[in-house]
Amino acid sequence: MSDTEIIQGKVKTVFTTDKPDQVLIQYEDRVTAGNGEKIAYPEGKGNVCCLISAVLFEHLEKRGIRTHYQSLPTWKAMACTKVEIIPVEVICRNIAAGSIVRTTNIGEGTLFNPPLVEFFLKDDSKNDPLLTPDRVRLMGVDTEPLIENTLAVNNELQQLFTLMGIDLVDFKLEYGYNNHGDLLLADELSPDNMRLWKKGTKERFDKDLFRKGEGDIVEAYKYILKELRKFI
Ligand code: 5GP
Repeated sequence: MSDTEIIQGKVKTVFTTDKPDQVLIQYEDRVTAGNGEKIAYPEGKGNVCCLISAVLFEHLEKRGIRTHYQSLPTWKAMACTKVEIIPVEVICRNIAAGSIVRTTNIGEGTLFNPPLVEFFLKDDSKNDPLLTPDRVRLMGVDTEPLIENTLAVNNELQQLFTLMGIDLVDFKLEYGYNNHGDLLLADELSPDNMRLWKKGTKERFDKDLFRKGEGDIVEAYKYILKELRKFI
C-alpha cells in the first residue's frame, strides 16, 4: 500500500492506498474534547478504538448494515471504502445525557422510547450546531435513509451492549456515499463517540471520563473490548 496522507483529523489520519476506491484510516493515540480545546495522548488509545470499531463494524455488516469497513491490516489502522462524507453528524439517544440535558429542561437519565434521532452540522468552525430536519433537507441531504439506518444500528448495538450489562445511552454516526452512490456507515464506532453506562447506573466507560477528568479512558475502553469479544 502507498501511504499518502490525505486528511489529518483530530484523532485519526486518513491515507490513500494503491486502490483508488480505498483509504487506510489510522487511529492515533490522541483524545480531544471541547472542540479540540482539551487534548491528551494516552498510550494504546488508538489501538483499542480501532479494534472496538472493527468488531462493531463487522458485527453490523453481518446483520445487513452497510459500512465503509473492509479489513484490519494492522493493529491500529483499518482499510475502508473511500466515501464522500455527508457533513451531518447523526446522533441517536436512548437516555438523556450531554448536550440535550445542557440545552433543554430534560433531566439526565430520562429514557427515550422510541429513541431520538437528531442532526448536527459537522463543522468545528461553527461549533457543530443542532440542525432541524428541514435544514438538513435544504442542505441537500435526504434525512429518511439516515434515520432508518441509524435506528437499525441502534437496535443492533443496544442488543449487543445489553448482553454485556451496559446501557447504550447515545452515540454519534457519520455517513458517506461510495463511488457508486451507495450510502455507507462511516467514521468510527467506539466509546469515543458513544456513551456507555453500566446497566442501571451512571458508571461510565466512555469519553466522558476524559471530558470530565474522571478516569482512565484506555482502561475503560479495554474493558469494553474484552466484554465485546465474549459476545461476538
Ligand atoms: P452530545 O450531543 O451529548 O454532545 O453527544 C451525543 C453523543 O454523540 C455522545 O455519545 C458523544 O460522544 C457523541 N458525539 C457528539 N458529537 C461528537 C463529536 O464531534 N465527536 C465525537 N467523537 N463524538 C461526538
